[in-house]
Amino acid sequence: MVVETSTVVYRALSLGAGVQSSVLALLLSRSDPRLAEHGYPKPDIAVFADTGWEPDYVYRHLDWLEQQLDYPLIRVSSGDLKTNLRKARTVSGHRFVDVPLFTVNEDGKKGMLRRQCTSHYKVRPIYRRIRALAGGQRGRPFPTGRHAEMWLGISWDEVERIKPSRERWVEHRWPLVDMRMTRQDCVEWFAAEYPGRVLPRSACVICPYRSDEHWLELKKSEPESYDEAVRFDRWLRHSTKNPVRKLLNGRPYLHAARRPLASAIAERETQGQNGINPFNEECEGHCGV
Ligand code: SF4
Repeated sequence: MVVETSTVVYRALSLGAGVQSSVLALLLSRSDPRLAEHGYPKPDIAVFADTGWEPDYVYRHLDWLEQQLDYPLIRVSSGDLKTNLRKARTVSGHRFVDVPLFTVNEDGKKGMLRRQCTSHYKVRPIYRRIRALAGGQRGRPFPTGRHAEMWLGISWDEVERIKPSRERWVEHRWPLVDMRMTRQDCVEWFAAEYPGRVLPRSACVICPYRSDEHWLELKKSEPESYDEAVRFDRWLRHSTKNPVRKLLNGRPYLHAARRPLASAIAERETQGQNGINPFNEECEGHCGV
């Protein structure tokens, strides 16, 4: 918890490059009066954590966004998810699967791996960089009487996701919550301000943390990336010798139905059944914060 007498020395937007944080980044750049009302000046920086495995349209959106902003946008990375996951390694080299794969054991028992990739690839590198930019030195306590602010793109409809920082050097703030702006408000604002431009959802190509609608979106807008996800899903079960499979008890899947991704999505397309939608939120880098 930040003490009341502490001075803010740095303000950073944690940018997931999804719907909410993109809109927030743009509103901040325009100095929207509603933000000023709630005590949000221009941030010093926006920070995007790159897992190395986002669809190209997310990277294109990020490049476009950078051109729109009148404050710096930087990219940080703690490692390449694609390379690490194929070796079943974490960013620090430990043998571990940190992506939330769905599993089915021999006895039919269903499970899901704990999502730790957000923390490893998004949260930690963003924290590290902001702390350094705000004047913190590695391995040393943050200067007393000073702190940084990290602004997060959680919207009013997701208010239950807000969590105060556990660290004394940084205070979390949620501008969209203060403005009572929902995800739908963000979508509508963007559509009115940038007609015809697509506002993508951000997620790694193989992220199992997706709804059917989101898989279909990937398939339609970037078939090569969808095909890559399908190939990766098959590879997961292809051989018990692959490094991921070796570490797990059950058979791993990318799709929440614990079926091969290609057939689950093909069925959804042809039969138009109600899809599985286990997750509404985007991986905006808030998990574990
Ligand atoms: S988008 Fe999915 S796979 Fe990528 S870091 Fe977030 S939860 Fe993990």
